[in-house]
Amino acid sequence: MKVYNTLTKRKEEFIPLEEGKVSMYVCGPTVYNLIHIGNARPMIVFDTVRRYLEYKGYEVNYVSNFTDVDDKIIKKSVEEGIPAQEMAARYIEECKKDMAAMNVRPATTHPLATQEISGMLDMISMLIEKGYAYAAQDGTVYYRTRNFKGYGKLSGKNIDDLQVGHRDIQVTGEQKEDPLDFVLWKPKKEGEPYWESPWCKGRPGWHIECSVMAKKYLGDEIDIHAGGEDLIFPHHENEIAQSEAANGTQFARYWLHNAFLNIDNKKMSKSLGNFFTVRDIAEKYDLQVLRFFMLSAHYRSPLNFSADLMEAAKNGLERILTAAENLRRLSEAAAGAGQTDTEQNQALCTGVSAADKMTDEEQKLLAQTDVYVEKFEASMEDDFNTADAVSAVFELVKFCNTHAFASDSKAYLDSLSSRLAQLCDVLGIITEKEEEILDEEIERLIAERQAARKEKNFARADEIRDQLASMGITLKDTREGVVWKRA
Ligand code: AMP
Ligand code: ZN
Repeated sequence: MKVYNTLTKRKEEFIPLEEGKVSMYVCGPTVYNLIHIGNARPMIVFDTVRRYLEYKGYEVNYVSNFTDVDDKIIKKSVEEGIPAQEMAARYIEECKKDMAAMNVRPATTHPLATQEISGMLDMISMLIEKGYAYAAQDGTVYYRTRNFKGYGKLSGKNIDDLQVGHRDIQVTGEQKEDPLDFVLWKPKKEGEPYWESPWCKGRPGWHIECSVMAKKYLGDEIDIHAGGEDLIFPHHENEIAQSEAANGTQFARYWLHNAFLNIDNKKMSKSLGNFFTVRDIAEKYDLQVLRFFMLSAHYRSPLNFSADLMEAAKNGLERILTAAENLRRLSEAAAGAGQTDTEQNQALCTGVSAADKMTDEEQKLLAQTDVYVEKFEASMEDDFNTADAVSAVFELVKFCNTHAFASDSKAYLDSLSSRLAQLCDVLGIITEKEEEILDEEIERLIAERQAARKEKNFARADEIRDQLASMGITLKDTREGVVWKRA
């Protein structure tokens, strides 16, 4: 399997650190608003990468954070008069609902920056000890960028060019040794959330958060680090500088970056008024359509969002879902059809009917569909080319539409059906709506979550909450107990 590595700027054979396992960190959103469709692109793309790795048999440890302390969060919390943590928690819940509706599976772990402060203090202290960081007089801790010899290796930037660019913009009042140095810890301002530290009451810089969360949940060296291309510089460049200096080993082996989503061929921005949240799109479309639209392009190509392209995605998705539904209907009709009374009796006793058997002819037909599966896999093996993988699915759909009839055996129809469903599942496209979860099952999971919390097994409690969220069930902890509702 080949993946394009931003670090080496070429496609490379993917070899994980540990056979059969993949550790993957994806930078998540800063939660001060409903997520927009640009944020949805990395979520969908890297969820699909994860699904393909799992399809290939890898065990994937997938970590994606929520940045829940940040200037923008604080600004909005002041504007709205709501504590920053409460606002962040609210938007995390909303984000999880959007993810579930786009069939983006919950990460193995979704760490929150505010819950990982002690790890950040440890890493910052370590960087100071090793001479890679220093505290200024006002308590701000800076990273000594020039001390890290590999600085610029991800973004391809030359440190001396950066220096020239920075010459005129040193902010007055900053106590940096060098304009290139970046913040690891900053003092609080009046009314801001803060934590105690050896340097000052304050809060972490954005870059240190990801270095620490990746280390804690995945280790010093990880297989894949991913995010949108705007994060290459400075965020990911700075993460490398921090992690490699602190841990003394290479940080991530493969760096994957998705290109941007534009609207009507223009950069998406609030000021231009061409800005859509995922929720806006949900008013008009099932979010499966948004997912399918995102996967119609290669993740490294810029993607233009327009009403026409969404309509095209809707039609394309419908073509696939109709074919899947058709196969199911034919299979239901085939069960029991064309059998004599004795055969039906036999089927009742053994659970296997004559119509369950594939004919030689059908077996040959089924073998013809191997080529579509092979094409699908070859596309995904080539740096996750979902655009070509979708074409392979359409070819399989065309085959199903022309080679499935009421007279066929149930075994043959079911085999076609499961082939189609399996490929769609890698893309996160649901071909058959699951049975709705029953109220009793929800109550049972909630009771299990309460028990887990009592035992301080918060990981399990969070897992249950995420599992329910992925089924559109949201929980609210109240004084009277847990209240739940369906999305
Ligand atoms: P943010 O909340 O701005 O930190 O962004 C969260 C994730 O969304 C990051 O991986 C960004 O690179 C990504 N992202 C933001 N805007 C876009 C966009 N228009 N197209 C694609 N990815 C984006
Ligand atoms: Zn990050």
